[in-house]
Amino acid sequence: MSTPMRRQYLDLKSQHPDTLLLFRMGDFYETFDDDAHILAEVCGIALTSRPVGKNQRVPLAGVPHHALESHLGKLIGRGYRVAIAEQVSDPGQGLVDREITQVMTRGTVTEPNLLTPQRNLLLAVHLEVQECGAGLAYCDLAEGILATCQLQASSLRALTDAVTDELTRLEPSEILTSPLLAQQSPELVRALDRLDSATSELEPWLWEYRASRQRMQEHFRVRSLDGFGLADKPLAVGAVGALLHYIQQFQPLVASHLDRVATYSRSDFMVLDEFTRLNLELTENLRTRTAEGSLLAVLDRTLTPMGARLLREWLGQPLLNVADIAARLEAVNQLHADGLELRRIRDALKPMGDLARWVQRVRYGTASPRDLVGIRETLARIPQLADPETQIAEGPITALLRGLPQCTDTWALLDRALVADPPASLSLGGLIREGYDRALDALVREAHNAKESLARMEQTERQRLNLPSVKVGFNKVFGYYIEVPRSQSHRVPADYVRKQTLVNAERYFTEELKRCESLILTSDQKQLELEQTLYRDIREQVRARQSELQILAERLALLDVYSSLALVAVENRYVRPEVSDSFDLFIQQGRHPVVEHTLSETTFVPNDCTMTREQTVQILTGPNMAGKSTYLRQIALTVLMAQMGSFVPARAARIGVVDRIFTRIGANDAIQRGLSTFMVEMIETANILNHASPRSLLILDEIGRGTSTYDGLAIAWAILEYVHNAGHLGAKTLFATHFHELTDLAERLPRIRNLHVAIDDSGEDIAFLHTIAEGRAQRSFGVHVGRMAGLPQAVVDRADQILGQLEASGAAVPDSLADLVPEPQGAVQPVLFLEEHPAVSALRRMDMDSMTPLEAINQLYALVKLTRE
Ligand code: ATP
Repeated sequence: MSTPMRRQYLDLKSQHPDTLLLFRMGDFYETFDDDAHILAEVCGIALTSRPVGKNQRVPLAGVPHHALESHLGKLIGRGYRVAIAEQVSDPGQGLVDREITQVMTRGTVTEPNLLTPQRNLLLAVHLEVQECGAGLAYCDLAEGILATCQLQASSLRALTDAVTDELTRLEPSEILTSPLLAQQSPELVRALDRLDSATSELEPWLWEYRASRQRMQEHFRVRSLDGFGLADKPLAVGAVGALLHYIQQFQPLVASHLDRVATYSRSDFMVLDEFTRLNLELTENLRTRTAEGSLLAVLDRTLTPMGARLLREWLGQPLLNVADIAARLEAVNQLHADGLELRRIRDALKPMGDLARWVQRVRYGTASPRDLVGIRETLARIPQLADPETQIAEGPITALLRGLPQCTDTWALLDRALVADPPASLSLGGLIREGYDRALDALVREAHNAKESLARMEQTERQRLNLPSVKVGFNKVFGYYIEVPRSQSHRVPADYVRKQTLVNAERYFTEELKRCESLILTSDQKQLELEQTLYRDIREQVRARQSELQILAERLALLDVYSSLALVAVENRYVRPEVSDSFDLFIQQGRHPVVEHTLSETTFVPNDCTMTREQTVQILTGPNMAGKSTYLRQIALTVLMAQMGSFVPARAARIGVVDRIFTRIGANDAIQRGLSTFMVEMIETANILNHASPRSLLILDEIGRGTSTYDGLAIAWAILEYVHNAGHLGAKTLFATHFHELTDLAERLPRIRNLHVAIDDSGEDIAFLHTIAEGRAQRSFGVHVGRMAGLPQAVVDRADQILGQLEASGAAVPDSLADLVPEPQGAVQPVLFLEEHPAVSALRRMDMDSMTPLEAINQLYALVKLTRE
């Protein structure tokens, strides 16, 4: 038979079975059973046990209530859903009532301390296999964003790819799916596993169109969803409906504030698939998976968290519309051209914080005094920001500045109402400024006077008792008291009433002290209550102006991104690209935006790139380490930067808009996906050939390297023909290869052009010039590079010999190498190991058992000496 509390616990646990339950017991939040094991493991807490009935104990682990937040952060960060059961009745006789007051999940938390400055997306994926379609919906509750799109594809494979691309772009914290997904697309389930997201399943009926539509209509209080652009997007509606259900379940208050949904189409943006995002190292590098060495790290000089989030979004979603791109470039240009104005704007932006999130918390009614002070401090800078001191030229930035909502009355309210530096918590009081409310001022004065009369009382009592050591003090349990040393207690007058006896002192009260005390305590309490009422009222007044504040936050983010891009352009000597709908691509003296910063001893060698309808494919040959991959990537990155609205690392650039960039670069480590390197290579290549259009840019690096030479060459050859042929694809393609045979294709196919990376081989070692030149490379220099890398001389000599004979034979790969290049007799002898090193022989001879420590150390010296001889 279990205890009543155990039964209460199990009852609460059954309300949210797949949730870790934190059960409040006095000053602790306790967990039991499996939850206790999880808490102990994730938070590094000792696991104990607790009796729950006769002869029955269960595992127990708990955290003190004041440390809840940091532990919550760890649990939620690891993807656990956490329910909190609070005590809701006063502890007294019998069992305390408990209720689940909150369920927290990674994608629905809005508490500032549980969030990083980056977006925190909750995303719902709704797949409809028969229709080859999918609906995606995501929200960032901390910023009040809700967006959706519907994807349609020609095959399930293509659909899965498209969904995966969106998922890798959005990097959600938590993903909602239907339990049917595993049958519908095991591939997508694998893709989800690769993401660092928490996942939750929602019943299939929650995704149904009709139910979702009704949920949306009720939520947004609309009769039709057409106004959201969702008239013909039932799958998107399904996803939004499921998402709303989930938020309503766990964050009902927050859900009620989501008042619009933005519908977007993937075709409005340049599509970057999962591999390309990784290969181009847009937001993280391939080696350590951190931001260092990524394009984002170079471009992100934003000063506010909302600006940083927006820049990241732009990087993940470059534009296609030439006018929209030109508008962004024009804004960057205006700041690029006016250094003073750029500095002025950045100085003003620097101290501004996360206005976007503060405003959301005002909407949700959870804004703390410090959030409101953050808003006030940001608003204080707007008039100065919006009013250029110098007469800057008219342009998009001037328009943006002029259009900044000033929110003067909100600022004036917050300035009048809140002290300079209020406490973090509302319960501490002391946050309302003097002069804001008469009643509050009167209470403060009353309390102040009472405290002053206490001080006077201390003086009077000292004189009355003729005892300087008498003092008036306060403690939480006994309240105010007059303290007299025990040895002097005989002096105490008759009106003193004993309150407490200590070792060395007696504590008393008098009628007057009691009167003063109650005056102070009631006015303190009244003051706190009044402050809280006033604070809520102030927050409501700010909430009434939230839409204006939200617009301000959006425009400040925009200004931040423009100023970041302008600064980077100035510092790195970027130029404004000309972007058009033409097919052509011209880059003069282009550089790699990341590699140019990483070279310490040399300077980056710029290179040109020209691609037109007459020359769509470029085959690039050259030795290893010459810079082929760098060149390919720098072109892709330059195009991407231009279309996101950034200046580019070149002397000049004309860029015909590209609908997608595809890359196949290097060998990805895909062991965790259970695929061989060559399989990954082919999957990536298939993805490219199946999804590219003539407007795409293809970056193909060393295709066919992962298999036998003949197979690889054959595949590479066929791919080149396919991409070259306008009837098939005709997309702009850069193809780096070590298969020199492929360069013959340029003679047969008109739109192929050969390029190579020049080297200087006049000296003993080859020198990499990193210059791209017309024509094919003469040799690979692989053996040379091997020598430079430190291969043993014997291997290098032998490789040279084999190479010479292979080249003389004229065959790509002979049937039998052994026939062609017989192994030289005795040429590769393990000479080095025939004789033992004297130090090793000495070691062998040593008799450790008969040695004193001193002898041992002497021997050690002798050994070291031997090795150096
Ligand atoms: P492999 O065939 O072995 O993959 P690769 O030809 O693709 O080699 P990269 O990896 O592009 O060579 O470049 C090798 C190194 O050369 C880079 O890490 C960089 O340090 C340097 N490098 C590349 N391009 C340039 C350049 N234009 N200017 C200066 N240094 C460069």
